[in-house]
Amino acid sequence: MLRVHSERISRRLFFLMLIIVLSLCCISIPLIISSYNNYGKAELASVEIDNLAIIADLANKISRERGPSNLAMSSTPEELDKNLNELYEYRKTVDQHIALSFTAIENAGLKNFDSLKIELEKKLSIGRKNVDDYIQTPFEQRSSTQLTKTIYSMFDAWDATYNVLKKMVMLSENKDSAVSDYYTLILILSDLRDQAGRVASNVMADVTFAVPMSNESVARALQSQKQVIYLWDLVNTIQPETDKTSEFIERHKKVKTEFIDQGLPLVLRLIDESNQGQAYSLKGTELTQEISGKFATVIDFQKYLLDYSIEIAQKDKQKALRQLMLNATVTLISLLAAIFTMIYAQRKVFAPLIEARDMIVELSYAYSRAGSDVVEHEHLKVYSLYDALQKLQQMLKQRDAFEFELKSIANTDKLTGVSNRLALEEYIKFSDMIPNHFDDVGLIVIDIDNFKHVNDHLGHIFGDEVITAVASCLKRCVRSTDLVVRFGGDEFLIVLESIEMDRALTTAEKIRNAVNSVDLYDPDRNENLHVSVSIGVAVGAEDWKTLLDKADKSLLQAKANGKNTVSGAS
Ligand code: GH3
Ligand code: MG
Repeated sequence: MLRVHSERISRRLFFLMLIIVLSLCCISIPLIISSYNNYGKAELASVEIDNLAIIADLANKISRERGPSNLAMSSTPEELDKNLNELYEYRKTVDQHIALSFTAIENAGLKNFDSLKIELEKKLSIGRKNVDDYIQTPFEQRSSTQLTKTIYSMFDAWDATYNVLKKMVMLSENKDSAVSDYYTLILILSDLRDQAGRVASNVMADVTFAVPMSNESVARALQSQKQVIYLWDLVNTIQPETDKTSEFIERHKKVKTEFIDQGLPLVLRLIDESNQGQAYSLKGTELTQEISGKFATVIDFQKYLLDYSIEIAQKDKQKALRQLMLNATVTLISLLAAIFTMIYAQRKVFAPLIEARDMIVELSYAYSRAGSDVVEHEHLKVYSLYDALQKLQQMLKQRDAFEFELKSIANTDKLTGVSNRLALEEYIKFSDMIPNHFDDVGLIVIDIDNFKHVNDHLGHIFGDEVITAVASCLKRCVRSTDLVVRFGGDEFLIVLESIEMDRALTTAEKIRNAVNSVDLYDPDRNENLHVSVSIGVAVGAEDWKTLLDKADKSLLQAKANGKNTVSGAS
């Protein structure tokens, strides 16, 4: 039955442990899930930004193809072979990058880019064909219109790439992530770079052929300039304040001082010269040379921000990973600590407690069984620890009472019922420990006169009756606090605490008289027997032994005085 009860407690403990572990799980699992999701988002953002960077790079490459193309188109017959080689080499690089970019797009699981790829390749091949056609055209047959058309068709190839970039940003699954601002930034930067490149390209044909600029060329050139300034300013607005590092500020400023303030006016000057009907102060090749140095600041600015965005995404990913690891570790440690603590508590605290409880209940159960109480036995089925303790308390009380009874029996003289020498010894042992205790202690020693005679003539049984009768007299004559002891044979002692000699003598006298008046019927002689006692009294001594000696001496004196007398000495 006890086992069943213990198992119940253990089961409850187990459920308690389970609840604690589950509660911990309830707190930590959502935390882990949330940090796992954050990590997933950060990783996705990092992948997306990497892919965007690849496409932005492709856009740059296509934009840059205009460089070797222009060079080949403006080459003298002597330069042509070399420049054509360079152009074809560069085209190969671009083609490889196109293949690489669309593989990256495919690997990222982005769908429906096929039509954009086809469009890009188509636009690029048109542009290239126009370039090739222009190069094939003999110098004297070339015109600014043909060159303009060629340049614009290369712009179209870039526009097709930009559409790919735009679609990627639009399809991003991570628009609400911390780094998604950089997606827009990458778009704007690509645009800024291309527009900056177009500023001179728009008027290149007219300048090369030294003809007045067409309205379209002027409009496009001015539009590109405006666009550059607008995008340059927009980058500064979009860039979060915290990310405006000294490098950012420096590069942003450089675009302004070198490209906007010095590069753009070159084109404006040429437009102005065209409007004034003047000859251009720069040739096409000179314009390309002058502006490309200043354009480098835009390339540098775009590169810096691209790298920075990638770095931010990487950092974000690392941070999310660290948070995830931290949450998982903390959860694991908490769970292990909780389980360890609970197992420890179960083994070192609860198990011993349950064992102790079982022992207590078993003990009290054994007690009840000894009492063969059927009703009690039935009650055991619902025994609580409190019941068991109460039972044990009762048992202890009974044992104490029993011990007390045993002690009284051991300390009592069997014949007379007064205390025996064992009790006196305990009293002496206790009193000896108290300094000056015997200073006011009185000791009365009583010895029955001629008792041998009683024994010899009336027998021992009668002698016992005499002893009992004298003991009764003694008990009657003293205070309840006084200790009456049968010292041996027919001799008694009475210890009276806090007493003076007068009162001790009075008590002794009272005892002597009381014994004298005892009538003991002797059936053999058919007469009453008169008993007397001799009493020695002593009050105050340095210790028990001295007090006893003094009282003994007094008793001897009383016997010597003719018995049935009281003798006392202070
Ligand atoms: P005295 O007047 O000088 O005291 O002489 P006495 O005859 O009383 O002598 P004493 O006190 O020495 O004798 C004590 C006797 O008491 C000796 C012994 O036989 C007897 N006695 C001792 N214990 C008991 C007892 O328990 N019962 C009986 N009946 N006699 C006892
Ligand atoms: Mg005697």
